[in-house]
Amino acid sequence: MADKGKKKKSKKPPDPGEELMAKIVSLAKRRSFVFQSSEIYGGLKSCYDYGPLGVELKRNIKEEWWRSTVLSREDVVGLDASIIMHPKVWEASGHVGGFSDPLVDCKECKNRFRADILEPSPEGDTRCPDCGGELTQPRQFNLMFRTHLGSVEDDASTVYLRPETAQAMFVDFATVQAAGRLKLPFGIAQIGKAFRNEIVVEHFTYRSCEFEQMELEYFVEPGADEKWYDYWRKTRLEWYSSLGARAESLRLRDHTKDELAHYARACTDVEYKYPWGWGELEGIANRTDYDLKQHAQSSGKRLTYFDTQTNKHIVPFVIEPSAGVDRSALMFLIDAYHEEPPPEGKKEGRVVLRLHPRLAPIKVAVLPLVRKDGMPEIAREIVKEFWRHSVNAFYDEKDSVGRRYRRQDEAGTPYCITVDGQTKEDETVTIRERDSMKQDRIKVAEAVEVVRERLVGPAKP
Ligand SMILES: [Zn+2]
Repeated sequence: MADKGKKKKSKKPPDPGEELMAKIVSLAKRRSFVFQSSEIYGGLKSCYDYGPLGVELKRNIKEEWWRSTVLSREDVVGLDASIIMHPKVWEASGHVGGFSDPLVDCKECKNRFRADILEPSPEGDTRCPDCGGELTQPRQFNLMFRTHLGSVEDDASTVYLRPETAQAMFVDFATVQAAGRLKLPFGIAQIGKAFRNEIVVEHFTYRSCEFEQMELEYFVEPGADEKWYDYWRKTRLEWYSSLGARAESLRLRDHTKDELAHYARACTDVEYKYPWGWGELEGIANRTDYDLKQHAQSSGKRLTYFDTQTNKHIVPFVIEPSAGVDRSALMFLIDAYHEEPPPEGKKEGRVVLRLHPRLAPIKVAVLPLVRKDGMPEIAREIVKEFWRHSVNAFYDEKDSVGRRYRRQDEAGTPYCITVDGQTKEDETVTIRERDSMKQDRIKVAEAVEVVRERLVGPAKP
């Protein structure tokens, strides 16, 4: 994820993209998807908390990724490595020496900027974009968060919060390969937090200092790397559309030669058309044998693969699809957001999140039409039946049924089941579909099966 940020210059009238983002941010807070961290203390720049709906959305995204990348394949295994690793890892990976941005400070207002994205004036000098003040000379600023392991704060105890999850898969390569007797090609996958002390943070949760990654290191025979690079580009792009993201808002963008990181032979971004323009969702890189060689040299340990066909030790190449959980969550929220005008003869329109049922935080809301005549009791029993089958169901009896439907539309809940007067007579309920608002009558006994069948939906493994 090596994309560059842009600093906004001056206040312009709001454009449609900004207005849409303002609505998403507002909905995200109002419905408790995601909001500023530590708000009662004024918030903390670029730190966010996921509320009850957001945590479910994020869990579902991670589960879908894990299911398609690890659990539906013979050739990929999982890993959950420590966030703090030996400091030598980051020397070998190049992060201690090279993972930095050139920064300048304004001598007047003391604001800090990335020197590489400031634009010089027509006269050719660069001044503070905020106040016009004079800037210092650029200094290299390392993006890794530093801390100390143990009680003594000296150089020997300095450790870093990982800036990517990937390095653990290289460092643990030999152990994992040997334990599983894994044959090339094979992959090691991990989901976890990573940290970068970014100076430019922007677009809500899109670029922040603490984020979660879903990374796969897929090891292949040298020479097979281009074939697998193409395979993963295609596979990863399809993953997003299989979960409902609009295909016309997704694209692959190959990096130009001067954009490539020093270790990469080729890199593609899966990009999404965000309200502010195209931006990276995921990077797919051909990292060659760079990382394994670096760690072998630095540790003095053998990080090779024994090819029984040729009786030779080889250093595999690696293809890395690296996706952001937070970016995906934001993208799916934006993509799902729809404002619908009032239907003919009605006054009220609605806001609906057309989230794929697999991603929806709540799968089904169960509503008694009124709070009497035994309807709440029946509805609660139905909820329990869903829970017993691991389907996240939600009971709601407050306000009119119309308002309850609207609340679920806004939360992205694909189905509402309503218990009404007829339920006691013939053991049926209505099931309402979120997008079409179409209602059917089904048997209470079939409710779990009907919802579960629809949840399997069109998503491919
Ligand atoms: Zn300034």
